[in-house]
Amino acid sequence: MTSEARTGGCACGAVRFSATVKSDHMDACHCGTCRKWVAGPFMGVEATDLAFSADETLGVWDSSEWAERLFCTACGTSFGYRLKDGSFITLSAFAFDEPLDLPLGVEIFVDMKPSTYALAGDAKKMTSHEVIALFQGN
Ligand SMILES: [Zn+2]
Ligand SMILES: [Zn+2]
Repeated sequence: MTSEARTGGCACGAVRFSATVKSDHMDACHCGTCRKWVAGPFMGVEATDLAFSADETLGVWDSSEWAERLFCTACGTSFGYRLKDGSFITLSAFAFDEPLDLPLGVEIFVDMKPSTYALAGDAKKMTSHEVIALFQGN
């Protein structure tokens, strides 16, 4: 993946951003919060240098003590998750203007995924327990 800034935004166009995509793959989260938040699995790419050129309708939701989520208050597009300390940002792989044609890297919280759907390919899968252990450094 090149490190040039890419542009993106919400469905109605009121929120516009640029960001540099850091990852060479997209990851999928099947946790209950993400599934409600985007009405499906959240599929994101790690990004840096997030900057907004239009943000009048930008909403920020505190989804936990350590993280917040970014969305458009006009159209409801949910497009970003970031740690409050700024050390990690993931943006929806589908919020960019040019589609990101990236392979699936890892699926997390797979134990919370309903049996209704399955993603293509054979990406690495991590359960809630494995994800929490990873973040706690165990
Ligand atoms: Zn919008
Ligand atoms: Zn999630």
